[in-house]
Amino acid sequence: MIRELHEKLKSGTLTAVSLAESYLSRIDERDGEIGAFLSILGEDARKSARFVDEKIARGEEIGLLEGVPGAVKDNMCKVGTRTTAGSKILDGYVSPYDATVIERLSGAGAVILGKTNMDEFAMGSSTESSAYRQTKNPVDPERVPGGSSGGSAAAVADGMAVFALGSDTGGSIRQPASFCGIVGLKPTYGRVSRYGLIAMASSLDQIGPFTQTVEDAAIVFSEIYGYDPMDVTTAESDGKRFEDFLSGDICGLRIGVPKEYLSGGLDDRVRKTFDASVERFRSLGAEIREISLPHAKYALPVYYIIMPSEVSSNLARFDGVRYGMSVDDKTERFSESDTLLETYLDTRGYGFGDEVKRRVMLGTYALSAGYYDAYYKKAQDVRKLIRKDFADAFREVDLVFSPTAPEPAFRFGAKQDDPVGMYLSDIYTVTANLAGIPAISFPMGTVEEEGKRLPVGGQLMGKWFDEETMLRAADAFEKAGADERK
Ligand code: GLN
Repeated sequence: MIRELHEKLKSGTLTAVSLAESYLSRIDERDGEIGAFLSILGEDARKSARFVDEKIARGEEIGLLEGVPGAVKDNMCKVGTRTTAGSKILDGYVSPYDATVIERLSGAGAVILGKTNMDEFAMGSSTESSAYRQTKNPVDPERVPGGSSGGSAAAVADGMAVFALGSDTGGSIRQPASFCGIVGLKPTYGRVSRYGLIAMASSLDQIGPFTQTVEDAAIVFSEIYGYDPMDVTTAESDGKRFEDFLSGDICGLRIGVPKEYLSGGLDDRVRKTFDASVERFRSLGAEIREISLPHAKYALPVYYIIMPSEVSSNLARFDGVRYGMSVDDKTERFSESDTLLETYLDTRGYGFGDEVKRRVMLGTYALSAGYYDAYYKKAQDVRKLIRKDFADAFREVDLVFSPTAPEPAFRFGAKQDDPVGMYLSDIYTVTANLAGIPAISFPMGTVEEEGKRLPVGGQLMGKWFDEETMLRAADAFEKAGADERK
């Protein structure tokens, strides 16, 4: 899709301004119903589009992403705009600087249409924990779009943006991509700078794109990755353009299917779609091998110790003094004698939602003296074993393939009072974050539910810093599907 738009912009059959306008009117028409956006940056978008048109008019070369309209999750700072991270506590906060990914996108000439809805501080799997609005799944508006980057996924799935950025700490790009029937890429930890991303769990967070096609994901990813002095965990850029690796040829590629992933809570229909997808990879010439990830069963418990521990530390900065709202602006409950501690307590009590409080409490407990060794340290030790499982597996196979989520999109409210049920949504995705490896979700088929066809995603996980093999395989899969439908 991006390549076609690029050709049209270059040849003058389309202007960047008219392209931006058509997306802004789509948002105008549809977002009342879908609820994907928290803010719309119409004027900024028009300005960047005009800039691209002027460049074309001067006969200058334009890059693949120039003039292409996209959206970003509302936990990424864009100078002069509101950034809420889906939380009341950041109501009124205006970013004083650009996140590195925003800088990169602007540098690449992309047109940023707006900021998208999300679960509060990216905690959740349905976008229902947003303090601001509900986001509907465009495939079936009675269902959630997944989360936590539900707004970004819904915007792309509904044609309100060509691409959108999300963040993925335990599955927040891949699971909503699966629920909405689009592509979502979580790069290797350290590929994309987290500078200007509101931190959830810093050892797990990564930014990546949502798109309609694998090639588009490769194009957006190529623009945003690379070394950044503002994020010490970023790796040197190796100059790759990932869209150059999509040859369609996966003959001889070794794809491992972890036996531990295919038992327990996996929906039968998802399992069937998955089995058919394994056959598609086989028919494309890949060699399928059963593999074992012996510590996979500990991934979710380990994630739900490490993530809240980091959350409790990262979220300590929201105290009603430094960022966003302070409770006395809202309620005027304070008298002169109120102490600083009371301001903290009142602001955090009012500003944070239930899920955030639950995790801050869990994390504070896991890190407290006397429990640290039993929980946090133990979880870190098991995390090493999970990572080693992948290192061992990647001696035998090039990629690991699994479903992205155990079931298709669920209905609103279905898991809101059942936090553990909600956490189980991440059972196949958290491992990639714990191990730091790249992973992608792409449409693998649909399953029928109540007369509707709901999309389900397949997940490929790759070796550290080997996004290209993963993208090549997902692209070959997608092309083969398009051929089958012809
Ligand atoms: N759903 C997971 C959680 O609630 C993942 C969130 C994320 O990746 N940001 O923690």
